[in-house]
Amino acid sequence: MDNQSAVITEVDVTIEGGWVLTVDADRRVFRDGFVAIDGSKIVAVGRHRELAQRYRGRRVIDGTNKVTMPGMSNGHRHLLCCAKGAMPEGGTTLEALRRFIYPSFAQLTEEDMHAYALHATAEMIRFGTTSFEEPGCNHLPAVLDAITTSGMRCRTGPWTWDQAGSAGDNGLPHWLSFTAQECLQRLEQGLETVRAFGNPRIRDAVTIEGVGTCSDELTAGAAKLAQEAQSLMVLHKATSEREVEIELEQFGHRPVEHMLKIGALNDRVFMNHVTCINDDEVQMIADTGVRISQNPSTALKLAKGTTRTGKWPELLAADVPVMLGTDAENCSNHQDITRAMYLAALLPRDARADPNAVTAEQAIEMATINGSRALGWDDIVGGLQVGKEADITVFDATDFDWRPLHNPVANLVYGATGHSVHTVLIGGDVVLDNKTLTWADPDELREQVEAIDRRVLSEIGIDPKPQWPVY
Ligand SMILES: [Zn+2]
Repeated sequence: MDNQSAVITEVDVTIEGGWVLTVDADRRVFRDGFVAIDGSKIVAVGRHRELAQRYRGRRVIDGTNKVTMPGMSNGHRHLLCCAKGAMPEGGTTLEALRRFIYPSFAQLTEEDMHAYALHATAEMIRFGTTSFEEPGCNHLPAVLDAITTSGMRCRTGPWTWDQAGSAGDNGLPHWLSFTAQECLQRLEQGLETVRAFGNPRIRDAVTIEGVGTCSDELTAGAAKLAQEAQSLMVLHKATSEREVEIELEQFGHRPVEHMLKIGALNDRVFMNHVTCINDDEVQMIADTGVRISQNPSTALKLAKGTTRTGKWPELLAADVPVMLGTDAENCSNHQDITRAMYLAALLPRDARADPNAVTAEQAIEMATINGSRALGWDDIVGGLQVGKEADITVFDATDFDWRPLHNPVANLVYGATGHSVHTVLIGGDVVLDNKTLTWADPDELREQVEAIDRRVLSEIGIDPKPQWPVY
């Protein structure tokens, strides 16, 4: 043994053995890998047989029979939502919004938002997600507090609309009713609130609703504000064929095209859904540097037409940062980005009868490094590489869904779900340990959230139950 290999550096955590998918610049994969973490950062990634002689972890995570990869990102996860499974079945997007989603949002108090945010972050971590985009919440300080407790990375801002968009205000609740100017002030205040809160894991966003509920003045003003403040303007856009029809009738332009016409497309714009666009709009998105969250489970549940009118392979081919999201409690009913990867890889193949439309590797990139690019976090997270923050998800690969295990990329995308997530680290902190949250009691969270759900559902007159007779 030479002198160099005899030097052993003590670090906070090591993950020793098993498959490691780095998703780094070279997309290196190690069969018998090793990750060393000190403080919040990754200090070494490589082969076990080499690094085990150089690093000793004060805490050792056994990586054998596991698959270690970068923590996943969720590009669309509302915290302002409730009562999973309670939304009446059979509605279109616009019907669901007006009958259930907006009225329930309007009922939530500051304490409710805090409890939902804790529950939602707990669920995301349990399924391997370490960062997310929250597209506009109410009671922002309570939400910031809850996210901090969870340890997650997040971009968020206040729920904002002026109810003066292409869909009119028919049926919208009289809740958070603002003029365009008041909205812009609220958005600026949101930036200040997040920045003053001072958690380096939470970044601000200029959050407007966007599906026909915002005036051009607000949409263009928000895009400008995001650029000036070096934030992200987050909105829902091009979410259904109906939305496109409405904008064509009113403006003579499709939604993305209309945003370009009013000067609201720039490289600080982050659009959610984008399930109904054409090739010209793909080009507009690519040319202006817009970022996107594709949310396949919500597209399927709300019948958005993503397989017919989505342009996912084209957006990826144009190097648009496309990430994956889930959405609110009742739009997706799960917060599992592994399931989103499965859909994102397979739906375009069937839609185009092309087995190469989206690859398994591209699906993992959307869930990890593309997510960091889209959310503007790729300066510090996104791949397992030296110097990056240690946001890491470790899957237990012992059960049938992972076996036989020859190619972890294929098993992860086609076979696994987030239920097999074993351990999660964010910034070097272990937030899930052997499938158990280290920072919250799930029984307590569930009881709190279900009590709030019951109150809100009775306030909005919904009695959730199966359509079959219940005794
Ligand atoms: Zn949404």
